[in-house]
Amino acid sequence: MADQAVAVVTGAYRGLGLETCRQLAERGHRVLLTARREAEGRAAAEKLAADGRDVDFVALDVTDAGAVAAFAEDLKTRYGRIDVLVNNAGIFPDPSPDKPESSILAADLDVIRRGFETNTLAALHLCQCLIPLMEGRGRIVNVSSGMAQLSDMNGCCPGYRLSKTALNAVTRILADELQQTGIKINAVCPGWVRTDMGGPNATRSVEEGASGIVWAATLPDDGPSGGFFREGKAIPW
Ligand code: NDP
Repeated sequence: MADQAVAVVTGAYRGLGLETCRQLAERGHRVLLTARREAEGRAAAEKLAADGRDVDFVALDVTDAGAVAAFAEDLKTRYGRIDVLVNNAGIFPDPSPDKPESSILAADLDVIRRGFETNTLAALHLCQCLIPLMEGRGRIVNVSSGMAQLSDMNGCCPGYRLSKTALNAVTRILADELQQTGIKINAVCPGWVRTDMGGPNATRSVEEGASGIVWAATLPDDGPSGGFFREGKAIPW
């Protein structure tokens, strides 16, 4: 199928990434499920593929710059172009919010650096390496968080908050530089979702959380770019 859209999802062997892969494959995308944990990633992709979906696995640690560059080269050779990039891989680097060390006054700067490495710089590097493969048309989703909103910024967890606010800035900068192209890039908050990161008390299922990501990954040509969305609706930065 020459025109089958190719979608790359990072950090996708579990949680929102896995469900995003499932929903994109259901919509007919050829999905590249990537994860740094090889056995878990391969098993997750095989499970989706066993149900008749077009899902392949590629091992990828998003903070490994050499591996990301090699991944882009490999994609070029194997598929020629890609259509969708979902920067889903993320960490919550801070101590639990009930601990005093989660205060910005006590925060370990190395923890904050770790947050930037994964949540901001790795996503930016994926954009740098994969945008050329979009050949001027494509969709990028940066999975962000309500905790990144400057309009509702509260105390605690600076490693996570700062890295996701910076990811939102990356989204805006790229959207401006790409505005003459057919590439749309948006930040999406999935809501509070029951995953390893969100915990069991979160209010949303992975299906609900991923649906807003898939919405942004499959926008029509007249859809928005450079926005911040939850459930397909714009939210303040
Ligand atoms: P999970 O912790 O289940 O998923 C995070 C995924 O990112 C894991 O698969 C993890 O794999 C992967 N990952 C982390 N670092 C790397 C890396 N260097 N290379 C490759 N993969 C990596 O949580 P969610 O599914 O909830 O999180 C998905 C995204 O959604 C994140 O960006 C998160 O910040 C965001 N989000 C989640 C919310 C929620 O309520 N759940 C709310 C708002 C945003 P590994 O096991 O190898 O670490």
